[in-house]
Amino acid sequence: MSPKPRGECPGASFCGHSPASREETTMHDHRRLGRELNLFDTDPLIGAGLPYWLPDGAVVRHALEEYVRAAERRAGYRHVYSPVLGKRELYEISGHWAHYSDDMYPPMDIGGEQVVLRPSLCPHHAVMYRSRAHSYRELPLRMAELGAMYRSELSGVLGGLTRVRAIQLNDAHIFCTLDQVAEEAAASLEMIRRAYEAMDVVPVRYRLSLPGPGGKYVAAPEMWERSTALLTEVLDASGLAYEAAEGEAAFYGPKIDVQVADGSGRESTLSTVQIDFHQPERFDLHYIGPDGAKHRPVMIHRSVIGSVERAVAHLLERHGGAFPAWLAPVQVVILPVSEGDVPHAEALAARCVARGLRAEVSGPERGTLGARVREARLVPYQAVVGVREAADDRLALRLRGGRRLAAAPAEGMLDRIEALVGSHSSELWPDASPAVSGE
Ligand SMILES: [Zn+2]
Repeated sequence: MSPKPRGECPGASFCGHSPASREETTMHDHRRLGRELNLFDTDPLIGAGLPYWLPDGAVVRHALEEYVRAAERRAGYRHVYSPVLGKRELYEISGHWAHYSDDMYPPMDIGGEQVVLRPSLCPHHAVMYRSRAHSYRELPLRMAELGAMYRSELSGVLGGLTRVRAIQLNDAHIFCTLDQVAEEAAASLEMIRRAYEAMDVVPVRYRLSLPGPGGKYVAAPEMWERSTALLTEVLDASGLAYEAAEGEAAFYGPKIDVQVADGSGRESTLSTVQIDFHQPERFDLHYIGPDGAKHRPVMIHRSVIGSVERAVAHLLERHGGAFPAWLAPVQVVILPVSEGDVPHAEALAARCVARGLRAEVSGPERGTLGARVREARLVPYQAVVGVREAADDRLALRLRGGRRLAAAPAEGMLDRIEALVGSHSSELWPDASPAVSGE
């Protein structure tokens, strides 16, 4: 992980923070930035806690979703889709109705049946697992979905992307044998570590979330002991420092929570890994073992980036809009010096777009070159093109933050940008690697 050097925070000038301390230079109000950068907004007519995503915000979200889906494919997950509604009975079986109904929307009556907006994806995935017979050879079976769930938050607590009523969750359920649990949970933690490295996000702490007093939790002491022991084993083996916290578990089991903090130090959970013996029991899940008999799988619930809402909120607060290049709404801005350089600038932008990069031309109609450079200060790669650059097809790049690179043949520079974006680098131009194509 490469933390931002002190003082380097291009977003700071944008949101007017004085760079007095590291905290101030790296933390921003995501609601204000979301509106100012045209990423997302809300409208009272749509309703509180129901943000909509504008094109630049949708780009950031797509990039995150594509990153997660590709990482999951590489890690052996298969993706599914399941409906956002389910019958009340489904949540009675899962235990949500008994333990979680305060956060659920009231059921809707449809033709004598009661259906509910789902408060989580787990029950659907459990039913989908159950719909086919499974052999031990298929385990661990990793089922992933980036899907919507709904939480009946009170309007008083809603704001920005952190407290919302409709949530897009990066979710997955791993159905496995007891022997496979530790390895799968550890692999999930490793996926989380890599995602944070790519997003240049640093957790404030890892938390082992245990049940607390009260009737919120499923009563099965032996099950809690077993799953807590497994998660403790995983955390100890990982070498990560963690703290145990009572009263933070899911109603069906303990979890590892990866905590991040906003500018005022308020913590929230971004990623989780949970062990669940409860829902496999409730849904009567099984697999056929090597002995030909039925066995109960364990269910691991895990989320790498959490909800896209919270992930983008935290990215904004951490980077102030100066996202790692692979997440930036515009990755390359081409700045023609004068009107005569516009055709070459447009051709250059088209070459970027053909490579899958997000590029745009900021021409003289938008003001002086200095004004345009200032306007594009959050764009990771900025290329000023004049007569000389057009004549020999060279690119003089300026990186976000002000660093200038020596002019070099455009194809090689674009190769490098494409490779850095494609590898989800959190650094704009690492010095160690070669300056041209071929990585
Ligand atoms: Zn789940």
